[in-house]
Amino acid sequence: MDCSKCGARTKHCLELSQRTYFCDVCGLVSSRDKNSAAVMVVRAGFNPAGVDGIRPGCPLGTQAA
Ligand SMILES: [Zn+2]
Repeated sequence: MDCSKCGARTKHCLELSQRTYFCDVCGLVSSRDKNSAAVMVVRAGFNPAGVDGIRPGCPLGTQAA
């Protein structure tokens, strides 16, 4: 999962039960669902090929996305 604010990729896997996304780079804290949606919008708008470039860092990430 990438940060919707600074674009940093989290180095750790978020637990599925963890509903809050926290970015240790810029300090953004938000709903992980909301953050995921925001990232999708950004990718869709600025990088049409971004979907193919998304590589979840962990199996849990694929389910979250
Ligand atoms: Zn961030």
